[in-house]
Amino acid sequence: QAKAGGRACVRHYLPSMRTAALHHLALEQGLRQALASGEQLMLYFQPQVDRQARVIGAEALLRWQHPSLGMVSPAEFIPVAEETGLILELGDWVLREACEALRCLPASRLPRLSVNISPHQFARRDFVERVAARVEAAGIDPARLLLEITEGVLIDDLYAAIETLNGLKRIGVALAIDDFGVGYSSLSYLKRLPLDELKIDRSFIQELEDANDAAIVQTIIAIARHLALAVVAEGVETHEQQAFLEANGCHAFQGFLFHRPMPYAALASSLKAVTGATDSMPQG
Ligand code: C2E
Ligand code: MG
Ligand code: MG
Ligand code: MG
Repeated sequence: QAKAGGRACVRHYLPSMRTAALHHLALEQGLRQALASGEQLMLYFQPQVDRQARVIGAEALLRWQHPSLGMVSPAEFIPVAEETGLILELGDWVLREACEALRCLPASRLPRLSVNISPHQFARRDFVERVAARVEAAGIDPARLLLEITEGVLIDDLYAAIETLNGLKRIGVALAIDDFGVGYSSLSYLKRLPLDELKIDRSFIQELEDANDAAIVQTIIAIARHLALAVVAEGVETHEQQAFLEANGCHAFQGFLFHRPMPYAALASSLKAVTGATDSMPQG
């Protein structure tokens, strides 16, 4: 019996492993080409809003238009980029594009832009210098650049992470913890980090009817308030979710209820619709 079960298991397991490995290899090679050609990658931007639905910032989200696979999700290729080290080059590209977008959109139109930083990227020795160089090259106010890290970067070496965060603070950029609540949070470290913002993970917002998730969200908002940090809810899709968040003291939202991620041109014209200003971002 066990043998038959085992064989059945193997029969189903092998092809999917093979597919996954091939896919991984295709993604890795494709990513190298995308970085070399510079034509398949782009940044999308998802505005964040306040209670009156006014844009208070945006998050830069990487998109990859693969020539044969079509649009590949960052959830799929960022892990491959992390494993292969390609994330360093990819992350540099994202930072440069994000700073360029900030240069093209004055603070009156886009107060700030958040950028996701992967653990590998954050851990590189010269990360602070690289960020400083990008900010300086674009000539932007560093306070408008908000770097999002996940709790994962704090696990390997908390002291090294604190040093990097302090270095980033010294050059004047803002810092957020992304997906807060899903990692191995120790509340005791939070007060030692020079943070500006917590982002509540989408998974909690989506399950707000669940009493446990509602309690977690209330707790995260309370922690943010006690530590004097801004708090942004991600993945807000319904008015009920917004109402719950507001009633509990969270007044900054990012989600499909307000805006989906959009290309630069759409971001620029949606901001223009509010202020009447014009401009365009040079490509390349
Ligand atoms: P994240 O940083 O937590 O980004 C938020 C994700 O939630 C985005 O997915 C966004 O499109 C999605 N989202 C926002 N509002 C809603 C909503 O109301 N409903 C739903 N269903 N989804 C919503 P996206 O763009 O697919 O990115 C997924 C993840 O990939 C990001 O999660 C981030 O961890 C990573 N990522 C994206 N761009 C970059 C990048 O430039 N560098 C690095 N290292 N990671 C990136
Ligand atoms: Mg993020
Ligand atoms: Mg997030
Ligand atoms: Mg997330």
